Amino acid sequence: MSGRIVLIIMATSASPNPSGLAAVRAAIALACRDAPRDPAEVTLVVVSKTFPPEVIEPVIAAGQRVFGENRVQEAKTKWPALQAKHPGIALHLIGRLQSNKAKEAVALFDAIHSVDRPSLCEALAKEIARQARAPLLFVEINTGAEAQKAGVLPQDADAFLDRCRAVYGLTISGLMCIPPLEEAPGPHFALTAKIARRNGLKLLSMGMSADFATAIQLGATHVRVGSAVFGARN
Ligand SMILES: *Cc1c(COP(=O)(O)O)cnc(C)c1O
Repeated sequence: MSGRIVLIIMATSASPNPSGLAAVRAAIALACRDAPRDPAEVTLVVVSKTFPPEVIEPVIAAGQRVFGENRVQEAKTKWPALQAKHPGIALHLIGRLQSNKAKEAVALFDAIHSVDRPSLCEALAKEIARQARAPLLFVEINTGAEAQKAGVLPQDADAFLDRCRAVYGLTISGLMCIPPLEEAPGPHFALTAKIARRNGLKLLSMGMSADFATAIQLGATHVRVGSAVFGARN
């Protein structure tokens, strides 16, 4: 409860950072305190999809260095110039990746959260070897078994993770999930954490603007937050 009160104060007081970044950071700190978790274990990935460089710049100026985009093409047009201006920015791909964009994705991104099928594993393995770059890889789990959603079904996850290692030689560092919109996210985060634990994976990409505190409670190491930082997308 005290967490909510502090948040309201942060969101309404005149802040030098109008972006909402400070409020999200404070909420992450509170969620870590409540869990309890070491805040150093939780990386805030600020999701900048659809927002132009001039909206992103103040968030960089406020010290944020990890950003997420859901499309390779959009990231390619926006980020190289921003990265040239501001050293030390890490870019995470959080959206679906087509195999024919694996080359560009490996060149541009420091982490890929959406590994979900053998053809993509094959394309990524080839580019990782060719470019001698090793983005952090997360396998996406379709915890709600939604037909329209990407990701590996929970019951196929163990076999898929084995295949990533044994067939493609990929190092998978963690799991990602996007719970169904209409359901409570907690059970989906818990299931993802359980699959990660039994497969010896340390990283968990889970939690968005509406539910990152719940995700942190359940072990998230990477929260992907867009609208709570920038405001609503068009
Ligand atoms: C857009 C997006 C987010 C951020 O969503 P918000 O609700 O704006 O925080 C997180 N994860 C993925 C995969 C997304 O596509």
